Amino acid sequence: MARGASRDLLAEYKAKRDFGKTPEPGPKRGKAKGNSFVIQKHAARRTHFDFRLEKDGVLKSWAVTKGPSLDPAQKRLAVRTEDHPLEYGGFEGVIPKGEYGGGPVMIWDEGTWEPIGDPDEGLAKGDLKFRLHGHRLNGDFVLVRMKKDRMGGKRENWLLIKKGDDYAGDGSEPTEDFDTSVKSGRSMDQILTGDSAIWTSNKAQKKTPPRGPRAAPARSRQKPAAR
Ligand code: MN
Repeated sequence: MARGASRDLLAEYKAKRDFGKTPEPGPKRGKAKGNSFVIQKHAARRTHFDFRLEKDGVLKSWAVTKGPSLDPAQKRLAVRTEDHPLEYGGFEGVIPKGEYGGGPVMIWDEGTWEPIGDPDEGLAKGDLKFRLHGHRLNGDFVLVRMKKDRMGGKRENWLLIKKGDDYAGDGSEPTEDFDTSVKSGRSMDQILTGDSAIWTSNKAQKKTPPRGPRAAPARSRQKPAAR
C-alpha cells in the first residue's frame, strides 16, 4: 500500500511541473534502500525549509514554514507536500519565475536519518519519531500530524518538534545561525545570481568554474532557459 501511494505521489510531483522549463529533476523513483535526509531552503513566494526523508525510494516531504528549531519548546508547522524523487536531494539552483515554486533552492543540511520505532506505522498514525545525523541538525525529533482543520482544507498540517537530548537547546535556532549552503557554501543571493549550480542534469548545463565568494553580480538574475 505504501508503495502504491508513493507512486501516486510522484505523479503529483510530475503534474505540478513543466520539466522543459524547470531545472528540477524528473519524477524518477529510486531504489528503496537508502536513509538520507535533506533540508532545502526555498525562497518561493515565502521562504520556507523543505524537510525531506528518504523512504521507499522517494523523499517524503514537508514544508516547514519557520524552519526547524533545536528548542523543544518550539513546535514548527510542517505542511506535508508531495513526495519528491530521490535525485531532488542533490538539487540546488533556481526554479524559474512563473514556474511552480519559482525561486532559489539551497541545500541547507543533509545527512542520514533513522526511524525510532516502525516508520510505516509512524507515518500512518501521524506520529513519526526519528533521529537525524546531519551537519547542522542532529538528535531526536518527532513529526506529529494535527487534526484536519475545520475549513476542510486539503493541507495536511504536521508539527516538527525537537526532543530533549544533548543536541537540544533553549532558543537554539540553527536557521538563524547558518544561512549558506551546506554543500556549496553559497548564500541564497549567490544561488540566485550565480550559474555554478552543483547539481547537473542530463539537460547538461555548461560546467562553469565556481565563482569567488565576492564575485560581481551576474548580469541576469535568471538561469538560462533549460532549452
Ligand atoms: Mn518548497
